[in-house]
Amino acid sequence: MTEPAVQYRIIPSDPAAHLFTVACTVTNPNPDGQHFSLPVWIPGSYLVRDFSRHVLQASASVSGAAVGIRKTGKSTWACDPCEGPLTVTMEVYAYDLSVRGCHLDTTHAYFNGTGVFLRVEGQDAEPCRVMIEAPPAEAGDFDNWQVATSMRTAGAAYGGFGAYQADDYDDLIDHPVEIGVFTRVIFSCLGVPLVLVLPGHHRADLDRLARDLTTICEYHMRFFGGPPPIDRYVFLVMVVGEGGYGGLEHRYSSSLMCSRDDLPTAATGSMNDAYARFLGLVSHEYFHLWNVKRIRPAILQRSRLDAEAPTTLLWVFEGITCYYDDLGLVRSGLIDTRRYLGLLGKTATRVYKSRGRHVQNLSQSSFDAWIKLYKADENAPNAIVSYYTKGALAALALDLLIRERTGAAKSLDDVMRVLWQRHGVTDTGILEADFEALAAEVTGLDLKDFFDAAVRGTDDLPLAQALQQVGVTHTLTEGRKAKGAGQAQTAPRPSLDVVVKARNGAAVLANVLRGGAAERAGLAPGDELVAIDSLRVTHANLSARLAASAIGETVTVEAFRRDELMEFAVELQAPVKDTCKLAVDDEADAAADAARAAWLAPSQGAGGEPA
Ligand code: ZN
Repeated sequence: MTEPAVQYRIIPSDPAAHLFTVACTVTNPNPDGQHFSLPVWIPGSYLVRDFSRHVLQASASVSGAAVGIRKTGKSTWACDPCEGPLTVTMEVYAYDLSVRGCHLDTTHAYFNGTGVFLRVEGQDAEPCRVMIEAPPAEAGDFDNWQVATSMRTAGAAYGGFGAYQADDYDDLIDHPVEIGVFTRVIFSCLGVPLVLVLPGHHRADLDRLARDLTTICEYHMRFFGGPPPIDRYVFLVMVVGEGGYGGLEHRYSSSLMCSRDDLPTAATGSMNDAYARFLGLVSHEYFHLWNVKRIRPAILQRSRLDAEAPTTLLWVFEGITCYYDDLGLVRSGLIDTRRYLGLLGKTATRVYKSRGRHVQNLSQSSFDAWIKLYKADENAPNAIVSYYTKGALAALALDLLIRERTGAAKSLDDVMRVLWQRHGVTDTGILEADFEALAAEVTGLDLKDFFDAAVRGTDDLPLAQALQQVGVTHTLTEGRKAKGAGQAQTAPRPSLDVVVKARNGAAVLANVLRGGAAERAGLAPGDELVAIDSLRVTHANLSARLAASAIGETVTVEAFRRDELMEFAVELQAPVKDTCKLAVDDEADAAADAARAAWLAPSQGAGGEPA
């Protein structure tokens, strides 16, 4: 076997200082001077992150003799002309504990290749090798550290340090690596080995996790017609404290972050909200194995990760995946219909709470993800709509529409399966108009009006009517009812029409909603509320203070803005009905009940057992 012409070495060289040492050796550098680069973004997370900002130093050498290296751009380097093998060595600071970054401390190491491995310009299509090494002895005692990654071994023992390999640069950076002490659960889904890796403290019920993950992964496999073309899959799940949540998909693995309380323990009953949320995340990332990692927009497939790669189709990849993540849970029996409709109602509520849904359409939301959704500011609720949540609702509406118009002969499931066969199996990138055309072709329906309204329009989707035909009621309420202050529990609470956050106990306006009472009175994001009608207001008592007044009443609100005390006359408004409740309609007819049963039943199109 010939040695790959590009080889990397990565060492968690100084865990206490959060420093990796990374070397890249090129056997045959460009004789005119070899160029290198680091990606500015990581696939799956549509924001320019400029990973090069964490490179502290870079040096180059040939056989120990220094070679000149200079930066040619924010994330690019060039070496002086030389004969190989040329080695570039970097010191990389890693203290971003997220699924997108790199993190190293004395408890563990985690990295994504996008943050540590240089692209060798002109040789990035070649196979390469990586030596993953243990921290040096002088850095401390890390004898019990192990390695977890979906990267193929090139000699390293399973779970061990040593040599790994990748087909090319894109493959190299698609295998996040966890190093440290962790729980490892190995199981198998339809013959594909799956590994669950859990760093961090936890008391999870591992048997249950293996059982439930098998259920959901097998469901998705059958959905797409059988096991995916992979021989392994790894879930790297970083277990952290309260509020931890996130995931990033890869072709052979995914990185997840969850809260300790999301995992089931021996004391967990049949199901709870937190565990359902975790299973939804697992389901989401696994569905991406097909939808976005292999069924891909052409522009993402071509991207060299050196600049934004905008596409109008992110809603297809994230929205449809969001639709199928929880749907997979109910169809595979992990959650019941009631819980599923509760989750779907929450997704709808998030959309109804964004006034930006009437400003930005799904296509624009997708295209501008880089500068809007990923750079959300205080005006986000008024300006943008999420291609995740609204995309999931569009997928739901499309699915129900196809079922209705074809007399249940076809569904979105069929569209996804053809998408997989035509674009995933063949690795043919999707052009911007392809999804819409394929949906029409597969279903035999004219769907232009649907796409005009749902994807290119900003009116609300006709969800209530769509859900009615599957025997589900759709109700919009004002959400939480007022408590105390002598008012009946059912009374709508007078509203400022703002989103409030707590800062040192004070009520601070996070968002002032477009056209609402607070905006009309001149209140602005960042204002710290002090008093209403001369009575002190805190984050804790704001609701009760408002409930003491009436809708339509004008109150005097005092607030600090930039340390200046200001006064506003606010005419309190009725709360907006933006909380969506979905429930099985007890009065639905038999046809609707049957349509619901077909919608929520395990997808039949895959033909049961895979071929
Ligand atoms: Zn996703």
